[in-house]
Amino acid sequence: MPDVFFLPTSGRDGPYRVGELVARLFGRLRVEEHWDRRARIALKVQVGERGRPAPLAPAWLAPLARRLHDRGLLPFYTDTCSLYRGELSNAVTQLRHAAERGFVPANAGAVYLVADGVAGEAQHNVAVPGRHLARVDVATAAAAAAGLVVLSHCSGHLQSGFAGAIMSLGHGLAPRAAKLLQTEALKPKIDTALCAGCGVCMEVCSFAAIGLVEGRGAIDHELCSGCGQCMTVCYLEGIRPDMAAGSPLFQERVAEHALGVVADKPNRSAYLNFLLGVTRNDAGVGQTEPALFPDIGILASTDPVAVDQAALDLITEVTGRPLAGWVGDQPDPEPQIAHAERIGLGWRQYELRTIAET
Ligand code: SF4
Ligand code: SF4
Repeated sequence: MPDVFFLPTSGRDGPYRVGELVARLFGRLRVEEHWDRRARIALKVQVGERGRPAPLAPAWLAPLARRLHDRGLLPFYTDTCSLYRGELSNAVTQLRHAAERGFVPANAGAVYLVADGVAGEAQHNVAVPGRHLARVDVATAAAAAAGLVVLSHCSGHLQSGFAGAIMSLGHGLAPRAAKLLQTEALKPKIDTALCAGCGVCMEVCSFAAIGLVEGRGAIDHELCSGCGQCMTVCYLEGIRPDMAAGSPLFQERVAEHALGVVADKPNRSAYLNFLLGVTRNDAGVGQTEPALFPDIGILASTDPVAVDQAALDLITEVTGRPLAGWVGDQPDPEPQIAHAERIGLGWRQYELRTIAET
């Protein structure tokens, strides 16, 4: 049964304090023993879209990056290009945006690279024992790294119900074609009874898939990629994915891509889940959101399934209700975790080891 280390803490203690704790928690995993000197180590992060604060502050991560440098390793921060429009949609604007947010070596302790090329085209094909897929594409920088540290700001998610380690691995390190393969099943629909016909969703859709019919929005599923951008901007929350079949298939494909990312890295990957400032939506939604509940702490494991299960369990235990009770009308995240375990990505059962903050 995998260990999940839990360090109760609050972001209110200050970014430098959180940074010390992150480096200490990471040390408990002893994953560095499996990395050779000068091994490239990808630190998967989320910079966040313009319009909301960075979900993971560079100061939280800099001591970890410096620790890896001090041990002769070559860490680099990384993320992929987003499907939706915005600063993260290509390497040029993403690198500029990441630098503006402090992801530069002097501040964050390591360089920042975009993992899948200039516009999401750089990919590496990997065989997986999936139910839906026999091969998956992963971002080249993730494939070229000898080890991974996946740093996930946990949140709800409009397409999967929960964003943690599995989503960071399987969707966050997927190149553009793989993301499209995952999202094609989502087939979002507009609730015409809610729709005010404002047209905002039409303006943000990069695939020209939305039109107005009799003053209400309508999505053409022949054109729609399922990218989710329209869902994030409808102020009436009138756009939702196909919850019955689309979201479960999306989640299962994400889990199969996650398996592809770590297929060649047994014992060489680490996962830190941050239950600090947990929000309803992930960092790709470009508007500031309040935290759903007070900070809980940080979790660490070498098992991505265990660390996600532990995050969901702790939310229920500490706040008195499950994440679904906080986020409202979002998909059930059960398919991603159940499928991830089924295909061998990790284990849902775990041993929780709580660490004192001092
Ligand atoms: S953003 Fe929402 S309310 Fe506005 S047209 Fe689209 S679905 Fe309708
Ligand atoms: S209609 Fe489809 S392609 Fe357009 S923004 Fe919405 S999910 Fe993305």
